[in-house]
Amino acid sequence: MKGTEPTVIVRAVLKAMGMTLRNLFRKPVTVHYPTTERKYPERYRGLLALVYEPDTGDEACIGCRLCEFVCPPAVIKVEMLKTPERNYAKSFTLELYACEFCELCVQVCPTDAIVMMKSFDMPTADRREMLLDKDRLHTIGLQHERTWATGNKLRDMQAPPKGAPRPGHAAPAAPKPTEAKA
Ligand code: SF4
Ligand code: SF4
Repeated sequence: MKGTEPTVIVRAVLKAMGMTLRNLFRKPVTVHYPTTERKYPERYRGLLALVYEPDTGDEACIGCRLCEFVCPPAVIKVEMLKTPERNYAKSFTLELYACEFCELCVQVCPTDAIVMMKSFDMPTADRREMLLDKDRLHTIGLQHERTWATGNKLRDMQAPPKGAPRPGHAAPAAPKPTEAKA
């Protein structure tokens, strides 16, 4: 067994060198970020952001706190501001460094105010920069392209088909042949 060891080592070295040589002429799969940006896949969901109403330019968030209640790691904090016309978020913070990117906050939002962006371009070495306040969340919403997924679209997709029995309600029984005749 001892006699075969040098052969095994030489074979392993040749194999590794062959692999290196092959990769030397292969097209690189990496890009020079940030000078070159990689195109994100169509259904990619990344950074979270707050957006403005497209018609009025007003903040879309009504400070209802549904996203805060549903967030599993509790990284969202919202304070509601009531005004005679409508409600706003007085303050809104999101600890992105602890976010699970589960998208539940997006799914429950009644006004499509919180959405995910088709980007993850927020490199930083400072954890504090990932504590996003309302202004930063709105800025991210303006800087990047939004994904297709909004609360209303996601809820529509998950709604049961028309005529399907609601949970806890039995489907209406088919009429018996005698009842049908009468
Ligand atoms: S994506 Fe999930 S974990 Fe992140 S803020 Fe929204 S609800 Fe919380
Ligand atoms: S982002 Fe949506 S769910 Fe969260 S407080 Fe604002 S309106 Fe409510």
